[in-house]
Amino acid sequence: MSQSQIKEKADINWINMVLFTTTPLLAVSVVPVYGYNHGYDTFEWFVFFILLVFCGMSITAGYHRLWSHKTYHAHPILRFIFALGGACALQNDILHWASDHRRHHQFVDNNEKDPYSAKRGFWFSHIGWILRNYRSGKEDLSNVKDLTSDPIVRFQHQHYLKLVLLTNIGLPTILGLIHGDVAGSLLLGGVLRLVLSQHSTYLINSAAHIWGRQPYSNSSTARDNTFLALLTYGEGYHNYHHTFQWDYRNGNRWWHYDPTKWLIRFLSIAGITKGLKTCSPAIVETAKLQKQYLDATDKCKLLKISENWQICLEEEYHQFANTLKTWSEHHKVFFESKKLATLGKLEKLEFRKKSRELKVKLRDHRRRWAQMIENLGHPVYVAH
Ligand SMILES: [Zn+2]
Ligand SMILES: [Zn+2]
Repeated sequence: MSQSQIKEKADINWINMVLFTTTPLLAVSVVPVYGYNHGYDTFEWFVFFILLVFCGMSITAGYHRLWSHKTYHAHPILRFIFALGGACALQNDILHWASDHRRHHQFVDNNEKDPYSAKRGFWFSHIGWILRNYRSGKEDLSNVKDLTSDPIVRFQHQHYLKLVLLTNIGLPTILGLIHGDVAGSLLLGGVLRLVLSQHSTYLINSAAHIWGRQPYSNSSTARDNTFLALLTYGEGYHNYHHTFQWDYRNGNRWWHYDPTKWLIRFLSIAGITKGLKTCSPAIVETAKLQKQYLDATDKCKLLKISENWQICLEEEYHQFANTLKTWSEHHKVFFESKKLATLGKLEKLEFRKKSRELKVKLRDHRRRWAQMIENLGHPVYVAH
């Protein structure tokens, strides 16, 4: 039986079923009705917004990039804040979330092993996997043993329910008492915030595996989707993330909308975050080039483009990839030498000269390659 043919009859997880159906129902009924009758003031919207960002960023910067992928190190105070925010987001504790997520990366799109495989459809990957006890979601914390050495992870695991109640009910109630409208505070800062925060995260498991671009790899269904990045604090660059999961950024270019990356980077200035891992631009460009080459060869076959032209494409691809490799090695050597402070004046000059030469060579490769890809089968003229 093929993976897509699997039709599994799984028992309903009643706690999740009740929780994940009543909260959205309240969010679309009681929240607007109360607002119509009593109104929500600026303070209540402010609390809603702050709690929404607090939950969202605790999941993206904490649960996801810190604990699941270990893309950087964080000060215990920040880890504690993320642990509280994660409980407030009500997406299970760090250990379970990271365990599911690591399995998602390891077995992506495998319907029997990926807990939220997008190949089982939008609904399943979005929320269906939480509502029933599917075999693919069976608890197995053996892949997160490394996280148990973190006392904050252990603390959150032991006191998860208390923290959930404290952050989701206790905090909005206290703020409501101070402000004078407990119901309003619970509805906006509690219910509406919880539903929006949860479903924006779930969009990454569903929509970001269905709609968008695949610039780096099509070995999985993961896609880059700028619109989703706007809703998810930068997590929408999911094709990049699945290709380079050790990178603390999801949007790798400086203009990519990735507030989680900016937060982690900003906190590193104060020493609160450390050891930020990034993938080198040469490796990223090589992955992109390889993907474009594979797509182009497929198109050539489809369009029955001459073999001679295909050989030209292959040659250009290998030359471009080689220059990228040289560029990568050149920078690596310099970086290591710089760290050891062994470079003399003459060597520095030599390094800069070679850098300039490589930059010019790469610029020409990029132009030629872009033209070849755009005009498959046509001769290429590049002005030098
Ligand atoms: Zn991930
Ligand atoms: Zn994914």
